[in-house]
Amino acid sequence: MTADGRVALVTGAARGIGAAIATRLLSDGVAVVGADLDVDGVTRVISDASGRGEAIRLDVSAAADCDRIVADVVERRGRLDILVNNAGITRDAMLHKMSDEQWHEVLSVDLSAVFFLSRAAARVMRGAGWGRIVNISSASWLGNVGQANYAAAKAGVVGLTRTAARELGPRGVTVNAICPGFIDTAMTRAIPNSIRTAQLARIPVGRAGRPDDVAAVVAFLCRDEAAYVTGEVINVGGGYIQ
Ligand code: NAP
Repeated sequence: MTADGRVALVTGAARGIGAAIATRLLSDGVAVVGADLDVDGVTRVISDASGRGEAIRLDVSAAADCDRIVADVVERRGRLDILVNNAGITRDAMLHKMSDEQWHEVLSVDLSAVFFLSRAAARVMRGAGWGRIVNISSASWLGNVGQANYAAAKAGVVGLTRTAARELGPRGVTVNAICPGFIDTAMTRAIPNSIRTAQLARIPVGRAGRPDDVAAVVAFLCRDEAAYVTGEVINVGGGYIQ
């Protein structure tokens, strides 16, 4: 089966890595429902002549909304084949200064949402006997100064991914995590210059990553030919090691 007719839900699709993933899947023939807080941003990203793209507003931190969106996509499109859990935020602070709010906000968007949407998608994909879930973790899952909340969430995504892969493998559903290194997006442009320069100096290929670098790997994992790749944690970091 080709990508034609397949339906993907991509979160955080208004900009950055999510926008690149949505665009790439569309160009591969997948129908993409892009979900984000910024629905106008998604509309700009996916407005293509084919009419295969659709923008919806979703706050991924709301469990009930995640369930509702998956049910809505399945009801209207008749299927959900691909889920890309990409939406993510940072609220950096040193551990001793981190507030409860900074902790809960990041855990909610970067980890709990991955659970809510994966659970809803798993119920659909198990029955269909085919599915692809790709979770965007981060190189920071191994630990990063100032990111106790983010590293914990992204490490949680790895554990969730590997568990879901074991549970869903027999049903034709693959589940993988991608760990981007330093990708040039709004998220990394917010990093102070001195830290940015130090991080860039540690990338062997000699440049920041582009959102398309990540999208290309997501696109591969979503294809039929990636059926034997599951439970993997794939670095996309130009050789950068945390
Ligand atoms: P970005 O440019 O900040 O884009 C993130 C998108 O997610 C934004 O459109 C944002 O919408 C949306 N979003 C945030 N909270 C949301 C929520 N509660 N519900 C729905 N959408 C929400 O970030 P990015 O750099 O593309 O990062 C994408 C993913 O890659 C994240 O999971 C991030 O942790 C991961 N990652 C990025 C890098 C990197 O170097 N950039 C490295 C490792 C991992 P608003 O603009 O409306 O808030």
